[in-house]
Amino acid sequence: MSEKNCIQIINKLVTCHDATRDELVFLLEHREQIDDNLLRFFFTSAQKTASLYYGNKIYLRGLIEISSFCKNDCYYCGLRRSNKSALRYRLSEEEILDCVTQGSKIGLHTFVLQGGEDNYWNVEHLVPIINKIKKITPTSAVTLSLGEMSSGSYRLLFEAGADRYLLRHEAISEELYAKLHPTEMKLQTRLEALNNLKKIGFQVGSGFMTGRPFETAENVADDLIFLKNFAPHMVGLGPFIPQADTPFSDKICGTSDNTIFLLAIIRLLLPNVLLPATTALATIDESGYEKAILAGANVIMPNLTPQGARCAYRIYDGKANACDTASQIGEIKEKLAKIGYAISLDRGDAKRIGDITND
Ligand code: SAM
Repeated sequence: MSEKNCIQIINKLVTCHDATRDELVFLLEHREQIDDNLLRFFFTSAQKTASLYYGNKIYLRGLIEISSFCKNDCYYCGLRRSNKSALRYRLSEEEILDCVTQGSKIGLHTFVLQGGEDNYWNVEHLVPIINKIKKITPTSAVTLSLGEMSSGSYRLLFEAGADRYLLRHEAISEELYAKLHPTEMKLQTRLEALNNLKKIGFQVGSGFMTGRPFETAENVADDLIFLKNFAPHMVGLGPFIPQADTPFSDKICGTSDNTIFLLAIIRLLLPNVLLPATTALATIDESGYEKAILAGANVIMPNLTPQGARCAYRIYDGKANACDTASQIGEIKEKLAKIGYAISLDRGDAKRIGDITND
């Protein structure tokens, strides 16, 4: 009976790109009982949906982790302000621009400036950097992932030339959000920030960690429905991985199987969304990139952060300390070639069906 229902729900996802909350809860609760053939059909359908828009090309984004200072205290994150063991650093403007120059020499056309919520990285300090990045590489997209700011600040960053903003909603259930964050952090504020970013004109990314402590199948279904309705340009989904110096040090790690299953659902709910195979997934599963792509992911983010700083940006434990950028891209190319994919060095905006090209 459950198998039959899973077939019906998966068929609906594949053909209608839709599912109700109850159907999603059912599917999530029966994931481990789905037989291999059905699972293969599900992942292949998600992969084919991605290739309808993006062919066999995987977009690359150069990630620059600009600061490990954070004023927030999220229970799951190693950068949380109460973590006295965390190593704190802030890249200089020169270091950031150097990362961009090196990345653009290799051909990258998207640079993601990510960091904790560091008061130093306000509009006053960010606008000149955005201007300078656009001078170095006018055709590249600048993505920011620096947490919650006022609508006025987001507007000034957009006007300075920032194109995209990543801000995971983390959990759409008030109850779950409150179990993952201290009371000073409000889901409402995060949702307002996401709405403001969209209104201003940013290409917006949202998402959540898979396998969060305390989550239920209902919570996950609500997150999926939220994403379907919010329709972001990008969705970030990576496993929760415990960090030893946080209150969640003893919580269970998210799994690769569950993450890949959720990536396939997202691909089918939001067919043209930009969907990274995350570093967190590659950290817990050495074939994580390949498995994610074969279930519908279409983005990988090589790390351009200078080596010294990279070790200090410890949001979770065991994060692969990736090699230099050129070697990372070489490794990614090799992995992709084995599954019939190749990198694209385009800016990598979200495509619509009419935009399909053979580039
Ligand atoms: N400060 C920005 C923000 O809040 O959006 C960007 C940096 S934050 C570290 C980026 C993302 O890392 C978060 O959205 C969260 O989902 C993820 N993250 C934090 N701790 C994690 C952990 N222990 N395991 C996996 N992902 C984690």
